[in-house]
Amino acid sequence: MLARVSKPARYIGMEGGAQRPEHAPHKVAWLLAYPDTYEIGLPNQGLQILYEILNERPDAVAERTYAPWYDLEELLREHEIGLFSVDTHRAASDFDLIGFNLSAELTYTNLLNMVDLAGVPVRSADRRADHPLIAAGGHCTYNPEPLADFLDLVVLGDGEEVVAEITEVVGEWKADARRRGDRTSVLHALAGISGVYVPSLHRPRYDGSTFLGLEPIVAQAPALVEKRTIADLAEFPYPRNQLVPLTEVVHDRLNVEVFRGCTRGCRFCQAGMITRPVRERPAEQVRSMVADGLRRTGYDEVSLTSLSTADYSGIEQLVADIVDADGDGPSITVALPSLRVDAFGVGIATQLQHARRAGLTFAPEAGTWRMRQVINKLIREEDLYSAVEAAFANGWRRVKLYFLTGLPTETDEDTLGIAELARNCIEIGRAHTRAPSVTVSVGGFVPKPFTPFQWFGQNTVEELQRKINLLRDATRRMHGVQVKWHDPKATLVEGIMSRGDRRIGDVLETVWRRGGTFQEWNERFDLPLWLDAMAEHGLDPDWFTHRHRTAEEVLPWDHLSAGLHKDFLWQDWRDALAEVGLPDCRWTPCYDCGACTGYSIEHIVASATPPAGGSQGTGQDLGSGWTPVQLRRPTSDVVSA
Ligand code: SF4
Repeated sequence: MLARVSKPARYIGMEGGAQRPEHAPHKVAWLLAYPDTYEIGLPNQGLQILYEILNERPDAVAERTYAPWYDLEELLREHEIGLFSVDTHRAASDFDLIGFNLSAELTYTNLLNMVDLAGVPVRSADRRADHPLIAAGGHCTYNPEPLADFLDLVVLGDGEEVVAEITEVVGEWKADARRRGDRTSVLHALAGISGVYVPSLHRPRYDGSTFLGLEPIVAQAPALVEKRTIADLAEFPYPRNQLVPLTEVVHDRLNVEVFRGCTRGCRFCQAGMITRPVRERPAEQVRSMVADGLRRTGYDEVSLTSLSTADYSGIEQLVADIVDADGDGPSITVALPSLRVDAFGVGIATQLQHARRAGLTFAPEAGTWRMRQVINKLIREEDLYSAVEAAFANGWRRVKLYFLTGLPTETDEDTLGIAELARNCIEIGRAHTRAPSVTVSVGGFVPKPFTPFQWFGQNTVEELQRKINLLRDATRRMHGVQVKWHDPKATLVEGIMSRGDRRIGDVLETVWRRGGTFQEWNERFDLPLWLDAMAEHGLDPDWFTHRHRTAEEVLPWDHLSAGLHKDFLWQDWRDALAEVGLPDCRWTPCYDCGACTGYSIEHIVASATPPAGGSQGTGQDLGSGWTPVQLRRPTSDVVSA
């Protein structure tokens, strides 16, 4: 069959670092699943970390699976072959748990499809004790309600510790109650684990179309499910054996996580909010993970990953050490995927000048200083221009600028400000090269749970398209400027999922049953499928997406906690509307967002000293003053968080 499908290497496993674990009746078998293609899913660090942690346990095994592309799916269904693992090609239905990583809303129908392909009823209520438990983790699970009817359990926060507790509970159940056909006892026991949410044990209440909240229906289920936070990243130096694929994948290089969490406080950024507090990996451990990883994998490129890598204390020394450590061996390329625009200067551009000339990406996110104050991305135009100047002066010909549109309080002046920034960047480029190129990439803003913008009414498709058209018109005669944009129709569906409640589950099932898979792929996305399904189930897309929420409204994720105080988020939302910035709390007194205080954890930084001239400001000046890192042969194709 593999000869009849595109990219058969997606399904054969056998990568460097792949494991062929030995299954046994006393071991809990996890199938770690990514609901998108192999190329997107394989590099996922969360799954790779759990893959290793679980396979090190004497009472567990873990394998992997990814969404089969629809050509293989057709063959599997035609020949009645179920979903399988790529490691030992074992049937998915043979595993005790199938654990999904959820990173994007448009993959939700793929999850249903994979569960169905595994031969498991898509609705948790229809499953028997001999079916695998269907679990999910990842950033999207901070509002799991659209998937509540399909998931047996949801894990909030860091997975490193909680997978062990889940394994023990499932192991005990497997040894005893499962044989008696009892599924309820394991769900009750799982609900008692901190960080685990069992949707079937919470009941939603409505008054007409007004959602009144979710309440637990058994004593084991807590009224508020708190996320899990590992206190010390140093205790988890994973992945130790990063997978090395046999075919092209995204982020095809060694990835070493240098810290988790972010305190910059960009108000649109869910990842920054829900992963607080900051926990840095000790520099010595990073150095040894890089050295071991490069040796084991054969990669000559390492990416130091985090949400804002320039903020890692001692980054210059760390990178210098990594580059120096290769001695007379082949040169190492160091990628810093999340540098901020205000950290990119002449020095780093000079260091980077021998790197690949694929282009550099900066993410100012908004076109005017006013708008950047609203979103708390306090990057000044001078910072952007000097970064662009440094890039063009050092031989780059292409620069990509990433923006969001549809942000709260956004006016046409803000949209035209994007064109103005692009024009000025091209002018800067002309001083250095005959044909500079600036690509403006625009994504529609989707408000996310547990951010200050969670109360904001998203822009309509028409409004987003009008702004994109305005920008296209304004840049039409700008030679060298290209505008690319994310389809506003996809933004609408993402918005419905992002803040939808449990009723959206019916829509998901209808779209999936009508063939709506791989909706995150342009060629497969089908808005009428979604709108028809919403209408059939009596749900109004406007109500879910375009409506501003009030302070009093109960939100579908209010029974979950990312550690952040709701009144902090509300105050930050009011500050946003008043165009007031909020400084980085790493270097300022704590303003009690809840992320540290609620968990008795403080930011763990490798060096407690802020960078010289660092971002200790008032929220008006966040130029980091960070000295460029010394790189021998680095690449940095995305230069701003
Ligand atoms: S609790 Fe305080 S120190 Fe911790 S992230 Fe929130 S504001 Fe910053």
